[in-house]
Amino acid sequence: MKKEEYRNQALKIFPRVCAKCGREFSGKKLRELTVHHKDHNYQNNPSDGSNWELLCLYCHDNEHSRALEAAWQGAQDSNDEKKPAAKHTPFADLMKLVRGSDHQAGGSRK
Ligand SMILES: [Zn+2]
Ligand SMILES: [Zn+2]
Repeated sequence: MKKEEYRNQALKIFPRVCAKCGREFSGKKLRELTVHHKDHNYQNNPSDGSNWELLCLYCHDNEHSRALEAAWQGAQDSNDEKKPAAKHTPFADLMKLVRGSDHQAGGSRK
């Protein structure tokens, strides 16, 4: 699904209100209302909107900087073979498992 498509779909389903700060958007201002993916996977677009949240630009930004570390470390793990293997943690094997299932789920990735 293209960005504009899921945005339009989300605007159809949800009230045009920021889910965080509760500001309402209409007309030109509607551009400032953006679709956030709750699981931070922008390719996960169920048409019932269960992965979407409408957030204004500011709250959206906020949401991502808060989740930045956790989410992005996960998302960029496919590059991890280039990283120095200095950090051995008890979770390393667990992380591999998580990554493995992640790769299967993301099979349609382009
Ligand atoms: Zn907001
Ligand atoms: Zn987002």
